[in-house]
Amino acid sequence: MLDLNSDVRYLKGIGEKKAQALNKLGVFSLYDLISFFPRKYEDRSKYKTIAQCQNGENVCVRALVANEPSLETVRTGKSLLKLKVADESGILNITFFNRPYAKNQLLKGECYIFYGKIDIMGSRKSMTNPIFEKELGERKLTGKVFPIYPLTNGISQTDFINGVRQALDNCLDYIPDVLPQSVSQEEKLCQLRYAYENIHFPSDFIALELARKRLVFEELFVLSCALSSIRKSRMKNPGIKMHIADLEEFYSSLPFSPTGAQRRTVMEAVEDMCSGHEMNRLLQGDVGSGKTMVAAALIWFCRKNGFSSAFMAPTEILANQHYETLNAFLSPFGIRTGLLTGSMTAKEKKAVKQNLLNGEYDLIIGTHALFSTDVQYKNLALIITDEQHRFGVNQRSALISKGRNPHVLVMSATPIPRTLALILYGDLDISIIDELPPGRRKIDTFAVDESYRQRLNNFILKLTAEGRQVFVVCPMVEENEELPIKLKSAQEHAKELSSLFPHLKTACVHGKMKAVDKENIMSAFAKGDIDILVATTVIEVGVDVPNAALMIVENAERFGLSQLHQLRGRVGRGPYKSYCILVSNSDSEETRARLSIMHKTNDGFKISEEDLRLRGPGDFFGSRQHGLPETHIADLGADTQILRRAQAAAESLLEKDPELRLPENCALKERIERLFKDSSDSFN
Ligand code: ADP
Ligand code: MG
Repeated sequence: MLDLNSDVRYLKGIGEKKAQALNKLGVFSLYDLISFFPRKYEDRSKYKTIAQCQNGENVCVRALVANEPSLETVRTGKSLLKLKVADESGILNITFFNRPYAKNQLLKGECYIFYGKIDIMGSRKSMTNPIFEKELGERKLTGKVFPIYPLTNGISQTDFINGVRQALDNCLDYIPDVLPQSVSQEEKLCQLRYAYENIHFPSDFIALELARKRLVFEELFVLSCALSSIRKSRMKNPGIKMHIADLEEFYSSLPFSPTGAQRRTVMEAVEDMCSGHEMNRLLQGDVGSGKTMVAAALIWFCRKNGFSSAFMAPTEILANQHYETLNAFLSPFGIRTGLLTGSMTAKEKKAVKQNLLNGEYDLIIGTHALFSTDVQYKNLALIITDEQHRFGVNQRSALISKGRNPHVLVMSATPIPRTLALILYGDLDISIIDELPPGRRKIDTFAVDESYRQRLNNFILKLTAEGRQVFVVCPMVEENEELPIKLKSAQEHAKELSSLFPHLKTACVHGKMKAVDKENIMSAFAKGDIDILVATTVIEVGVDVPNAALMIVENAERFGLSQLHQLRGRVGRGPYKSYCILVSNSDSEETRARLSIMHKTNDGFKISEEDLRLRGPGDFFGSRQHGLPETHIADLGADTQILRRAQAAAESLLEKDPELRLPENCALKERIERLFKDSSDSFN
């Protein structure tokens, strides 16, 4: 007797070889197999007469074999089998390539169902390599909605179908139901066994939709429960307990008055740090929302409590810049700040490390160098990382291991919709700066096509003559002849611009360069030694160049909206009126709609909502090594409604049974444990 845990190799028709092919797909047990859902479905349930068939459609045709199939071998050595089939309405020509055996399966005068794509040339209708089976008798291949599985070498659709069928027949009644009864009822979800049966072998598309909804909900519910319980158990970790201080003392030293959102987010973090538990908080705020000041306030607060902080930046140049900015905020209070970066000499590094060990610094700022094994801290209570998506999760944990349960604040300038944030950063509490400092001027944004090139060049001339600097972003590093469409390459484009504007200094920076070279060019640009910087998206997170007033993005259709927004944030950081020009020759309706959103709003959160709606979550996930389990069936872009409901249901369940101790939640608990068995280290 087979059960859910049985190895797939015990299924009839699955031998050692096929079992190994399945293993490659991550399928080992029968449970894995039935949880491996079809990639798509073919509608083989529609029948048409030959006369009704339209060009290009996939249909089933019920027809008689009208002549003896003729088999020939063509020059290439391949075989060609041809026959005519007919129904009362017309004739259909059928061709098989390399399927000589079909000759013996198709008998003249007998009726078959053929499923395939109709091709019409003049009055001639044909089908190539159709799927077929006898009309009479049990029909396995036609007359239904048919699952198509993602394949790998060594296993066929038929193997899959046979295997899944057997697995379902053996196990359908034993699949553990992780959804509490009350939730299924509340959400009007179908029964579990109905869901598994119909996700593989749907009786029709309505059944498929019901099955899918149930399984998507279940997946997102389990994920939400898992993340939420990690968050809750983290909150119980003891953390360094601080005592409240009067933040006005810090605020009053600033050259500006903090926004309401800045004050609120500072307080959220301060409350965490006074709670006696570890803080694990994400601070989200659009570019220019003033995250650095929030960081400074928290560093000041820790120092007030007698503790030191570490601030980790993704690049040297950013570390340098933060060193200057934070020092300006903090030195009036006698806060001693150190800097540790990879490019420092061994001697310099040694001195800094010694100072750290002696407790000479209240704040250390640096790059990855901060978590080298030989760096030791004294009294470290707060770790802040900037632009988190550039760091691997493991690097973050390496630094955390350096203190005794230090508090952690992760800062991100990528605004993401809240529902998605709860999945991406679901193990963190979230603070959002949803307000920009007053007096910010909108960056005027325009989408243009190639016909504007001359005007665009004139604009570059005008702004540079006024002393401003220009960013140009290209989608590629170098020319690629193989691409069907020509994309601007940074290197080529830089050459063009420098011959066009010989009196200006043009430079190029891209991801294939060595880190030092990149940094050198970036700092030359920051110093004003370069007028036009042509780059790939490496400049997405970047240094402050207040003098840069124009951002040009070439082939703008290649970028996601959130990415464009991020790029736009590189300008408008100083007192000058700034512009962003999106160049695209695409005439697709969708591209124009997307680019016009950039013109309409400067609000990163609105843009990210739109981006999620239009492109799905790929962008957000792609840009961060999140280490979260992949979703099997849910599409986080399209299934946002279900995601919201699943999150709410998860929250309310965990409120009632925080540790999932109740017997009815036992299956859920097990599933969560299974989910994180492989990726548990990502959550430290
Ligand atoms: P980001 O969130 O992108 O890191 P920054 O912290 O670099 O933003 O702040 C952008 C600019 O806004 C800086 O020059 C900073 O000094 C300034 N700034 C921050 N907060 C305020 C405020 N409340 N009022 C006015 N200017 C502010
Ligand atoms: Mg910043």
